[in-house]
Amino acid sequence: MVSAANPHATKAGLDILRAGGSAVDAAIAVQMVLTLVEPQASGIGGGGFLLHFKPSAKYTSSLLSAYDGREIAPSGATETLFLREDGEPLSWNERKIGGKSVGVPGIIRMLALAHQDHGRLPWKKLFDPAIRLAQAGFPVSPRLNKMIRRDKFLANFPTAANFYFLPGGTPLPVGHLLKNLELANTLSRLANEGPEAFYIGDIPRAIARKVRETHHLPSQMKESDIKDYTAKRRSILCLPYRTWNICGMPPPTSGGITTLQILKLLERFDLAQVAPGSAKAIHLISEASRLAFADRNQYLGDPDFVQIPVQGLLNEKYLRQRASEISPFQAMGKAKPGSPVSEKRLPSLSSDRGGQRPDSTSHISIVDQYGEAISMTTSIGTAFGSRIMVKGFMLNDQLADFSPLPRDKSGTPKANRPGSKKRPRSSMAPTFVLDKDGKLVMAVGSPGGSSIIGYVVKTLVAALDWNLPMQAAIDLPNFINKNGRTELEKDTPITTFSETLEYLGHKIYIRTKTSGLHGIRIGKGQLEGGADKRREGIVLGD
Ligand code: GLU
Repeated sequence: MVSAANPHATKAGLDILRAGGSAVDAAIAVQMVLTLVEPQASGIGGGGFLLHFKPSAKYTSSLLSAYDGREIAPSGATETLFLREDGEPLSWNERKIGGKSVGVPGIIRMLALAHQDHGRLPWKKLFDPAIRLAQAGFPVSPRLNKMIRRDKFLANFPTAANFYFLPGGTPLPVGHLLKNLELANTLSRLANEGPEAFYIGDIPRAIARKVRETHHLPSQMKESDIKDYTAKRRSILCLPYRTWNICGMPPPTSGGITTLQILKLLERFDLAQVAPGSAKAIHLISEASRLAFADRNQYLGDPDFVQIPVQGLLNEKYLRQRASEISPFQAMGKAKPGSPVSEKRLPSLSSDRGGQRPDSTSHISIVDQYGEAISMTTSIGTAFGSRIMVKGFMLNDQLADFSPLPRDKSGTPKANRPGSKKRPRSSMAPTFVLDKDGKLVMAVGSPGGSSIIGYVVKTLVAALDWNLPMQAAIDLPNFINKNGRTELEKDTPITTFSETLEYLGHKIYIRTKTSGLHGIRIGKGQLEGGADKRREGIVLGD
């Protein structure tokens, strides 16, 4: 079964599974098609995180692997990357577009690493569906059309403007047959010459030249920065939650640790007895979320550069004590970060939240016939990334996830400050749920910037505590508290809880919350999939 954000991509994944491919093989095919059909969200010019599950008779941690394909800053980047000459930070809208925001793309080397470990079909074959579709063309979807129409920056970047607008400047209309021969050519090169063609030769030369020569905030990226990129195997993080084990991606994303913390903080409450999506549920989950986000903002960054108290933050005793701060009857207001056991407090990451980025990024969940599974969140940053297009694909703007101000008022460096070859902190949260025997129960994840964490927690609680089917768990209205206002999804029944929640002390913010949750749940010998109706995804399986 494949659940992904676009029907062409889901179908390509299923075809690979039917041809005997593994979940990783299918993920590669899905990613290549998404590069073509959902170019605003993810692609070979971006990065991502992938979790892999392999069944085994015995429960061992070797069942699970985690791959880090997060973008890195060019070697020439310093902590002043996003400061103007007067020392003020560039605004979100300035820094998220153009050359400086572009990190060295990591997705191809990450997928190559996962394929080396878990692939069954030849690498070359996995590119066929995307190459064929890029040559034949596909009809522009309503969402892609909307993204082009709404984007204020795309038209200023000539290569992208020529591609996404008709002569005369009309955004490509819905149904327009869009071919991408340049991408077909790039993908053929990656298929035939192998993943290294992305990192050595004329492709990286073209990327480096393009970001250095762009009119808006030229980058210092060198060809050798691209060649030097390394994808990493990281140790997956798992924590028991009631009768399950929840497993997530470790830093440089904050997604895993924060999701695990929220669930653990909620264990004190018998959520099964609380009505799904009720005011009481929203209150309790929001309170746990405030505490976890306070820790997130304090402690998380790139583990290769800053010491992160991972074990301390996930320590049961520490989280029990933190959970005692939650009152069922009153909102706590702004939560302070805790002091995880035997760890010294790191410099503040500040509350830099960046701008809203609800329109980009994609999540893929796949379970194959061998019982293996992947949960992968993939992104080029904001919609259309840096807006710089090269060789038929969009380049990410992921470096905008760094704290633009490198130091706090006292001059103390922030853990998420920019730096040479550093990975910016992410919120992506690909997740697995296992039962106590180590069998896979669920694969899920979502786009949505830092709201990803709220979307994933809601879906896990809905599926596990409230036993809702996968689709119903995804459909349930979204809500989140990032240690500030309690955000409720616009035009949903939960907005009627505003007064009740305000009475408990919440400040309410009603707004669009466009998750893109894609999940697969494994019942007794049956797969049950869900795809988020807020985007264009579908599930297909045999
Ligand atoms: N830049 C975002 C992050 O890494 C991408 C995820 C998203 O916006 O959905 O958290």
